[in-house]
Parts: sequence; C-alpha cells; structure tokens
Amino acid sequence: MKRSMTRKPLAYAVTVLAAALTLPATPARAAEVNVYSTRQEHLIRPLLDAFTEATKIQVNLVSGGDDALLERLRAEGPNSPADVFLTVDAGRLVRAKELGLFQPIKSKILEETIAAPLRDPDGQWFGLSMRARVIFYNKARVKPEELSTYAALTDPKWRGRICIRSSSNVYNQSMLAAMIARDGVEKAEAWAKAMVGNFARPPQGGDRDQILAVAAGACDIAVANTYYYMGLTRSSKAEEAQGAEKVGLFWPDQQGAGTHVNVSGAGVTRSARNKKEAQALIEFLAGHRAQIIYAQQVYEFPVKRGVPPAEIVAAFGPFKADTVMLAKIGPPQAEAVRVFDRAGWR
Ligand code: FE
Repeated sequence: MKRSMTRKPLAYAVTVLAAALTLPATPARAAEVNVYSTRQEHLIRPLLDAFTEATKIQVNLVSGGDDALLERLRAEGPNSPADVFLTVDAGRLVRAKELGLFQPIKSKILEETIAAPLRDPDGQWFGLSMRARVIFYNKARVKPEELSTYAALTDPKWRGRICIRSSSNVYNQSMLAAMIARDGVEKAEAWAKAMVGNFARPPQGGDRDQILAVAAGACDIAVANTYYYMGLTRSSKAEEAQGAEKVGLFWPDQQGAGTHVNVSGAGVTRSARNKKEAQALIEFLAGHRAQIIYAQQVYEFPVKRGVPPAEIVAAFGPFKADTVMLAKIGPPQAEAVRVFDRAGWR
C-alpha cells in the first residue's frame, strides 16, 4: 500500500515532464461558443457582437431555417458542434426539448430575470424576448369598439373579412395550443372552424403579408405578431409605411386571459462542448444591454423587468398578457395541428 502511494505520484510527475518536453508551446485556445440560430442574421448579429465585445468570447454563428436547423441538430446528435440553439416560439423550443436536443442548466441570473411562464421549468430553454399576437384592423372600415377577443372574431359579422396565415406556421399552432390548454380541444376546434368560415381568402404569405392585405383592403382584420407591424411603420418603402398607417393595432382579450404572447429563446445543446460559454451567452442575452437591443432593433418586448420597450411599441401599450406557462403549450402542439386539419384551415 505504502509502496504504490509513493510510486504513483512519481510516475505521474514523469509523464507530465515528458508531455511538457514533447508538446509544442501553443497558446491556450481562445474561448468560443458555437451558435445555431434560426433568427435573421442582421437581427442577431448586433447582440452576438456585443457579447464578444463584453466577454472576449468568440461566437461562431450558423444561421438557418426554423425547422431545417432543428432537423440538422437532431441529425448531428452528440457530434453536433452547436453549443446554443437560438430560435423562435415556445412550440419549437419545447419540440427541441422533447427531442432531447437541450440539456438543463442552473442559472440564478436567468431564473431571477425571466418570469417563470417564459422559460422551461427544467431549465432547458429560456425566453429571451417576448412577442404578442394581436388583432390588426383597417381603420377606415372597423372601429376598435367592434373588437374584443380572439373568440369574437368568429362572429358572422366578420364573414369574408379576416386574413391570417397558414396553419403550418408555428405561431398559429402555439396560439391554438394555448386555447386547447385553457379551454379544451372541442372549444378550440369550434373556434378554428368558425375562423375558417370568416376568412377573406385561403391563407397565404407571412404575418407581414396579412397586415399589408388589411392596408390594401383585401381584408378588414388580420391576426399577426406586433413586431412585423412596427417594422412596417419604420419601413424605407413608402407604400409599406403608408400602408401601416391605415392599420390599427388592437390588444385582444384584455378583459379575459390576456393577449397571446410567445417568446424567442435559447437553450444549451446536449452536445455542447463549450457549456460555460454557452450559459454565459444566454445570460448575456437576458441582460440589460442585450435586452435594450431586442427592444430597440427587433421591436420585441424585453423579458427583463425595468427595460422599456421601444417608444413606437410603448405607444400602443400597456397591455395585459396571457400568463399561461409557455411550457404547457408544448404538449398540445400536435393536437393543434390535427384540429387545424379537421377545421379545414390550410
Ligand atoms: Fe416572426
């Protein structure tokens, strides 16, 4: 026993010495973090640059389509170089968690900064900016007094007047999943069916297109996320900025559950080799400096208390947001897709 205890450190010392003699004197590898992001590169770049400037940690960014990048992460499995997956919508974040693509992290900073409904209870993903899905209306044809709730959009008076995008989009899936979580499948399905009956046209285009269709008179009502509208009001294209002026923004369900909100967010991947840096990046994105960028350049709502939304966003608020745990709208996503199919919502 005594012998082996004295021999071991000696053997160790010899090995270390040998290694020191044979290894070239390379400088320590620079700290880095590999990010897979489905967000538009011009939106996310300023945030990543600010992180590198503050921490000297290099960010290697891979940008890609929402579902394409999730699929890539899944295909790469444990060999994925990604440390952080940055994407939009709790529906997709939950899907990534269910596929085992994230690992839990424990962060006092993130738990204190981000309200519980906007993050995964197991610490696998964190909402970093909030968006609201609201009603837009043609100011010349609709009075805001005529509007109230998402449910009221099924009234026959809106027949042939509503524009909303396809059900293949995760924003609509999450909105319906939130209804399923709250009111049950039957009520959600009745809503979807009646909405389809009030469509002005078969779903086409993205959220921006729905708002522009209201401006152009193709429909009187649209349901879309707020930041697209803010982007249009600031557009360098005159027809877009003028179009937005014809459109009003209405916060639905203010007497009830509140307006449906969702998040963009991120998690540390299961494959992460730079876990410490990955966590540092997510904490930075939830921090004051990054939250100001989210507010001012992306026109989303900060998740950090005390950081105000952009002035053009604040001009339409404040509003009551639905406080449903976003993690809860994950499981009903698949049901939401089936409900849309049965309702004939293309
Ligand atoms: Fe979007």
